[in-house]
Amino acid sequence: MSHVAGVDIGGTKTSAALIGRGGEVGRTVTVPTPAADGPAAVLAAVADAVHRLGGDPAAVGVGSAGVIDPDSGYVLSATDAMPGWAGTDLRGGLHDLLGVPVAVENDVHAHALGEAWTGAATDTGTVLLVAAGTGIGGSLLIDGVVHHGARHVAGHVGHLAVPAAAGRPCTCGGRGHVEAVAAGPALHADYLAQGGHPAAGDLRAVAARAEQGDEIAVRTLERGATALGQALGGLANALDPDLVLVGGGVAGCGEAWWRPLRAAFTAELLPPLRGLDLAAGRLGTAAALVGAGRIGWEAAACATTCCLH
Ligand SMILES: [Zn+2]
Repeated sequence: MSHVAGVDIGGTKTSAALIGRGGEVGRTVTVPTPAADGPAAVLAAVADAVHRLGGDPAAVGVGSAGVIDPDSGYVLSATDAMPGWAGTDLRGGLHDLLGVPVAVENDVHAHALGEAWTGAATDTGTVLLVAAGTGIGGSLLIDGVVHHGARHVAGHVGHLAVPAAAGRPCTCGGRGHVEAVAAGPALHADYLAQGGHPAAGDLRAVAARAEQGDEIAVRTLERGATALGQALGGLANALDPDLVLVGGGVAGCGEAWWRPLRAAFTAELLPPLRGLDLAAGRLGTAAALVGAGRIGWEAAACATTCCLH
């Protein structure tokens, strides 16, 4: 057994990689997620991606979008981006297709496990990870163990209320949540709504314009980052973590985003927490694959010693 496969299932694309015993990332395959074709098509795409890796992986670890129950292996709920995904037997379905032990986890939890294994959060007691991308996700690790909560929902950092989001509809059906002003699509839409250059087709373009001094872009990133920083500062006060890690695509927006994020975060902290900083993740987009690999190795060990997944 020299490798397991780590898999990261997102709403638009799915990646699979061979992961070594020490968390080394080997051959990687990325395919579109056929989300609109339903769960069976998604599971088949995952199995195909794993087969294409070769290398005869001893087990498969999966980080997936949605609320995942790692014990039952089922997807408990998912957004409209993956119709029918809720109710899918993710672990059982993949085990049937691949014939090796399979372990499953939510993708943001997998991201945090990856950073804790080989990235920016090794040997760290309590880690709060925030992944700012299409949505705002999060994960709390306590001594390296994911805190899932009573209903497997823990970590939904995007659904904290912040003043800047007052009244705004959120993807969850509620209103006023930080995701509605700080997630990537919200930032891009805000930039255009404020009269930004119509040629800026995505958030990356907005960030590039901010770097060139586009005032609307600078203010848009500042507004979103400030809202997120406030939410994270409040969370830090409540949880008193050793480390707060920030990752996801929005974290690639540069100093125009990080500066106001840090300022708003620091301004919220209770006196004993002053000095607590925000750190960037180290593994980038590979983090969830590495974390998925870690639970894959656990499944491999479990299958040989105690039970068959
Ligand atoms: Zn919400």
